[in-house]
Formats: sequence, structure tokens, C-alpha cells
Amino acid sequence: MDYPGNLIVVAAPSGAGKSSLVKALMELDAKVQPSVSHTTRDPRGQEKHGREYFFASQSEFDAMVAADAFVEWAEVHGNRYGTSKKAIEERMAQGADVILEIDFQGAIQIKQIFANAVLIFILPPSWEELRSRLERRGEDAPDVIELRLANAAIEMAQAHKFDFVIINELFDRAVFDMKTIVHAQRLKFAAQRRARADTFKSLNIA
Ligand code: 5GP
Repeated sequence: MDYPGNLIVVAAPSGAGKSSLVKALMELDAKVQPSVSHTTRDPRGQEKHGREYFFASQSEFDAMVAADAFVEWAEVHGNRYGTSKKAIEERMAQGADVILEIDFQGAIQIKQIFANAVLIFILPPSWEELRSRLERRGEDAPDVIELRLANAAIEMAQAHKFDFVIINELFDRAVFDMKTIVHAQRLKFAAQRRARADTFKSLNIA
């Protein structure tokens, strides 16, 4: 599938700071737009249907799977999450760079479908720091934190399948790293040829 926009996929163990980094990147760069996933989990806090997620019942999710409406989907921490074709194709066709904040299983599925997608894995600077970030966040009970740490080990073992790794030690530095990757992605031959088709044509570059 070939669209003028780029696809940026970001995965990380929970507590590594993925959401804050993606949010900061989108504030700095209006051309980077989010893909809103579907999930079977219940909304948390201030979350709004259609903003953070499209919240779906099990049967609605099943129907979308059956209708082949997802580019990828996976079960994460006991709930199902999926990126719909609609969530990314419309925006990419308009030339936006679409950013997907998904788990590593989904990221790997995306790369198989969109070979041009760039996969970024965010790592915490250490185990101690990951643990203390999860504790400071205060969202999870101690047993849930242990589960998240155990999952983090499984997730981080997949980091070698990604194109880039950012170690989120200093937040501003990590945002800069993300910006640099997005910028480099836009300068790739295939991306430039898609985005600047007229220029390439006038220069007779195939
Ligand atoms: P949360 O419930 O905390 O918002 O998300 C739990 C995990 O599911 C996170 O790692 C998040 O990135 C991942 N996730 C969110 N949307 C999707 C999606 O569409 N596909 C996949 N594979 N994972 C997702």
C-alpha cells in the first residue's frame, strides 16, 4: 500500500513514557496525527469515545475482526486492541504522517503490511527507574505493577525487531530523538518520491 504520508509506530513497556513522548511530538509537529484504536477495555477517567479510543463491546470487536476491518489487532493485558484500516488510511492518503501507539505484537504486524513503516521502541533507562515510574504514577496496585514489570521483560526482549530505540532518560532529549527519526523518515528516497511526486517527475527520476 502506498500513501503520501508516513507511518510511525511506537511501542514500549508501560511506564517507559510512550504516551507523553508521542503527545509532545504531536504538539511540536502538526503533520503527525494519531491513529485512534478500538479497544474492548472500559474507558478510564476522562477518556472519551473517539478521542483516546473507540470503545467497543466484545461482539462489536468480533464483527470488525470478521469484516477484516483491522490492519492489526492483539490482546494486551487481557483486553483486545486494534488499529482499523479507516483510522490510518484516510489520514495517510491526505499526506499526514500517522503515529500508532501500540504494543509490540501490533507493531510487528504493521511492518509486515507496511514495509515503509518506521518502528520505534522506547526503553526506560533502568529497571529501577521503570519500577519507580510505575509506583510514582500511582495508577496500579502492587500486584499489577509486578505484572507490568514481568510483561516489560517480555516486551523488551522484542526490541531488536524495531528500527530505532530511544532511551527515555531525559524527556527533552527523547523528544528530540523522536523528532529526528520522523525527520529522517521523511527524507528517505521512497518517502520523498511519494511526497514530492511532481518534483521527481519534472526531474525525470523514476
Ligand atoms: P492502555 O489500555 O493502557 O491504553 O493500553 C494498553 C496497551 O495496548 C499499550 O501498550 C498500548 O500501546 C496498546 N495498544 C493501544 N492501542 C492498540 C492497538 O490498536 N493495537 C495494539 N496491538 N496495541 C494497542
